[in-house]
Amino acid sequence: MQTSIAHPVLSVEGVSFAYGAHRVLDDVGLQVAPGEFTALVGPNGAGKSTLLRIVLGLLAPQEGRVEVFGVSPLRRPDRWRLGYVPQRPRLAPDLPATVDEVVAAGRLAKQGWWRRTRAVDRDAIGHALESVALESLRTHRVGELSGGQQQRVLIAKALATEPELLILDEPIAGIDAQAQRLFRDSLVHLVREHGSAVLLVSHELGAVAEDLDRVVVLRRRVLFDGKPRELADAGVSLGVHADDLPRWLEELSENGGA
Ligand code: ATP
Repeated sequence: MQTSIAHPVLSVEGVSFAYGAHRVLDDVGLQVAPGEFTALVGPNGAGKSTLLRIVLGLLAPQEGRVEVFGVSPLRRPDRWRLGYVPQRPRLAPDLPATVDEVVAAGRLAKQGWWRRTRAVDRDAIGHALESVALESLRTHRVGELSGGQQQRVLIAKALATEPELLILDEPIAGIDAQAQRLFRDSLVHLVREHGSAVLLVSHELGAVAEDLDRVVVLRRRVLFDGKPRELADAGVSLGVHADDLPRWLEELSENGGA
């Protein structure tokens, strides 16, 4: 289990939450250190998205405490420091902005909108678009794109911003192996070159299995928190047999958890 981290970018302590009488999170604790690459996994309905909504300050926990960069998410820190890519983005269909403009807006949020776009900014925007294979759609309006493409635009925007903590909710569901490799490379670049922390919520960890520092398994409670190697010792491999993790998560939900 994870020991306490001195200056976590994210700290969740004793968090419980229920929708009406339906308890979804029960005494959940989790910390993420600067520069740490963590995966949050759990079966469908385990409470992952609810936990993310609490971390983002969109829901208040009924018990417990959450801090992002040492302050409550309700007292929003500098926006660019926390990047978030939702599972099902809903960008307004009549939004006039192009893919390029949305990604550039992420970069400007960090640099200050009054500054001119410099070569380094253009490079970051170009690399971000490349890593989600969207260069060919640069000039398209985001409102015209599919849900999956819109999610990739938001991933590119978050990558170009180089946030201190990037949270992604199911970003690689349904993308092909080559796109997964590109995406993996860009996350690893963000962690290693910019020292960003990444919290990745996903059912499919094969593409990043070698790169993760930690895996947290949630099913209403935290059932496991440790290194991928420790999870492998418990008989669940993330990379070698791609089906192991999804199968184990399914068993967890069938058996009602540990
Ligand atoms: P998935 O992997 O399927 O996205 P999840 O782990 O993200 O699942 P949540 O979306 O947090 O899980 O949902 C946890 C439980 O809370 C589920 O049983 C879900 O039906 C329920 N739930 C989620 N949102 C609401 C809501 N707004 N009102 C009532 N119940 C909700």
